[in-house]
Amino acid sequence: MLITFKEAAEKIKAANKILITAHIQPDGDAIGSTLALMQMLRDLGKEAQIFIDDTVRKNLHALPHFEEIRRPKDGEKFDADLIIVLDTSLDRIGNVSKLTDAPILNIDHHVTNSGEGVELYVEKRAAATCEIIFKLAGELDAQITPEIATCLYTGLATDTGFFQFSNTRAETLAAASKLITYGVSPHFISEQLEKKSLAEVRGLSAALNSLKMFYGGKVAGMFINHETAKTFDSTEGFIDEIRVIETVDVAFLITEKAPKVCRVSMRSKGVNVAQIADKLGGGGHIRAAGCTLKTTLDEAEKILVKAIGEAL
Ligand code: 5GP
Ligand code: MN
Repeated sequence: MLITFKEAAEKIKAANKILITAHIQPDGDAIGSTLALMQMLRDLGKEAQIFIDDTVRKNLHALPHFEEIRRPKDGEKFDADLIIVLDTSLDRIGNVSKLTDAPILNIDHHVTNSGEGVELYVEKRAAATCEIIFKLAGELDAQITPEIATCLYTGLATDTGFFQFSNTRAETLAAASKLITYGVSPHFISEQLEKKSLAEVRGLSAALNSLKMFYGGKVAGMFINHETAKTFDSTEGFIDEIRVIETVDVAFLITEKAPKVCRVSMRSKGVNVAQIADKLGGGGHIRAAGCTLKTTLDEAEKILVKAIGEAL
């Protein structure tokens, strides 16, 4: 069920013990928005705790209060009067849903989130969930400390490819500008985020070597097998290296995270890849989407290339 921004804010105001979560395979927006909201709520005198059911790529560990994020243990319970799910629909929060039966408030910016069976405030125009949380700070009268600003800026920067993608709006840059006046150091964040391990750069090299073109150059794909994938923790940015090919409309990367578990990332310059991902059980945005295919790498390639072909 869709609710308004004001209704979402009222629910937060009424709650006192709040569990905050975001999607598995968390990115800068998922970690930035949960950390920012946790700090805002604590400053307002509420109890707030983040649980995320996954490991987090190293670059994001430098964010303020990162060490307080918990991962649910088997059979663990957590006493809360509200769960806030950020930056995703409920299908991607893993075992966090088992921690409590508290009512759920979902805040997101993904076009594929329809809010089925949950109270959802979705702002599809927002470049990042962090853009919504920035606005929420105003509504809740929460002060934006330099730490909170750093977390929010990270989400804005990562979800817009450092303010380059088509989701970058005047409101996004206005928020980023305000956050800098609140104490963000943009170069510190960029330097943290661009760091890669040697294994990651070697992985990128292997991925580029696997490049294949389809449909007369309109589609470019890269592949990382499990052997290579297990040597590093993130493929963030890999796909951007082939998205730039001038003939390409859709770029994809398939990473075999585990045998018969293939993670798909897609980027496009026109085609609605959210729709393609949605059909394959995933979701995302019109120009950036993903899904998981539980097959071999070869089979995943066939399924994906066919689905993209139908959408072209
Ligand atoms: P990425 O390629 O960076 O992993 O994901 C691109 C976008 O698609 C992100 O906004 C991400 O949240 C979304 N996305 C990726 N994989 C999935 C998925 O399996 N399910 C859903 N619903 N969204 C996904
Ligand atoms: Mn996001």
